[in-house]
Amino acid sequence: MSDIKALKNKLFLERKNGRLIVKDEVLQKADEYCEGYKAFLDAAKTEREAVKEAVKMAESKGFVPFEMGKKYEKGAKIYFNNRGKTIALAVIGEEKVENGVNITAAHIDSPRLDLKPNPLYEDSDLALFKTHYYGGIKKYQWTVTPLALHGVFALRNGEVIEVSIGEKEDEPKFVIGDLLPHLAAEQSKRTLNEGIKGEELNVLVGSHPFKSDEGSELVKLNILKLLNEKYGITEGDFLSAELEMVPAFKACDIGFDRSLIGGYGQDDRVCAYPALTAILNVENPEKTAVAILADKEEIGSSGNTGLESDFLRFIIGDLAKMQDGDATVALRNSKCLSADVNAALDPTFSDVMERKNASFVNYGVVVTKYTGARGKAATSDASAEYVAEILALLDKADIVWQTGELGKVDLGGGGTVAQYIANMGVDVIDLGVPVLSMHAPFETTAKFDVYMCYRAMYEFMK
Ligand code: MN
Ligand code: MN
Repeated sequence: MSDIKALKNKLFLERKNGRLIVKDEVLQKADEYCEGYKAFLDAAKTEREAVKEAVKMAESKGFVPFEMGKKYEKGAKIYFNNRGKTIALAVIGEEKVENGVNITAAHIDSPRLDLKPNPLYEDSDLALFKTHYYGGIKKYQWTVTPLALHGVFALRNGEVIEVSIGEKEDEPKFVIGDLLPHLAAEQSKRTLNEGIKGEELNVLVGSHPFKSDEGSELVKLNILKLLNEKYGITEGDFLSAELEMVPAFKACDIGFDRSLIGGYGQDDRVCAYPALTAILNVENPEKTAVAILADKEEIGSSGNTGLESDFLRFIIGDLAKMQDGDATVALRNSKCLSADVNAALDPTFSDVMERKNASFVNYGVVVTKYTGARGKAATSDASAEYVAEILALLDKADIVWQTGELGKVDLGGGGTVAQYIANMGVDVIDLGVPVLSMHAPFETTAKFDVYMCYRAMYEFMK
């Protein structure tokens, strides 16, 4: 029997809960690390806020805005702010940029409800906002939960006014209504997907009519009066605004044992925070390290702040040119960790997963060779050689890792920024944190996995 056991130990691939493998001090470090993570989740609920927070943290660590034409020496720390919605940070390496850079790429946009360009209306003496959802959501999850309003009004005089209402204790929140069960007989016959429709995601924003016994839309009028007093805006200024309704609750510990974190927007701030904090701790790396926190991943990485744009390509080019090097050569020699989440197996819904290739909470950072849908449509399938290289790196640094696919083959699928970075000729693989209830207003992750993700990001860039 012991021969069989020994042979199994030697030949079988073992999967173990990471909390059983590591020393207690590692778990303690994970707990400490995640206090900062929770604060980041609360401070950065939108891509704009995440960039602001990243700039603040980076500048306190000596990073400066990149200036075109300026030569940065080895060890220099710089950042590129793209329209306040995407940020790339770099630490110049010992080797030439042409020899390749090590890139970690996460995204800082999350599913949410954007206000429509002309959102405010009054119906039945109530004032409401029309919304247009952003990213893949289960619409019914966004009703009857407290919401906060974040974003900006860009005025035609050039001024940009920031908005954040509903985060502080004493601030009002907003809410989307749902039908009482007593009258939901017809609604209950709808499919889950249609349970709440896009045009039913209307946010309640007030009920007090402007005091007058003549005229109509007095509740709407009063809301505009309040907004005009606070922000100096009129109804027409909504047309040039980016306003997002996000859950109003704060990140918190989950479970009697406090081993988990619940919060909004963990896809993908649960990888963005590790990538960010890792590059802030990188000193004098061999290869130039780049961490990019991108916008628009949830709607296909499109637009000039998404990673399908040439923003990252231009940055690597700028860095190469600064040393009189060639941008194409630099890209060809570069490597990337696409830092994005995978779906953790939820015991209640385990039938969507194939257990041998699913990721589990607390089993460490997930390496995902490919994402895509059905026959691997729309994915960057990392080469066997690159997978081996990354697994070796993780092994060498005692980082607990697992591999995962996104559910059963025929059930659905998804994508990340990996394919767009691969298009530039860069070696890339997905590596991130397993998440429960991905894309819900309140997602859950494990502290242990978050910390392992940080350690992987650091080892890759250091
Ligand atoms: Mn993601
Ligand atoms: Mn996502």
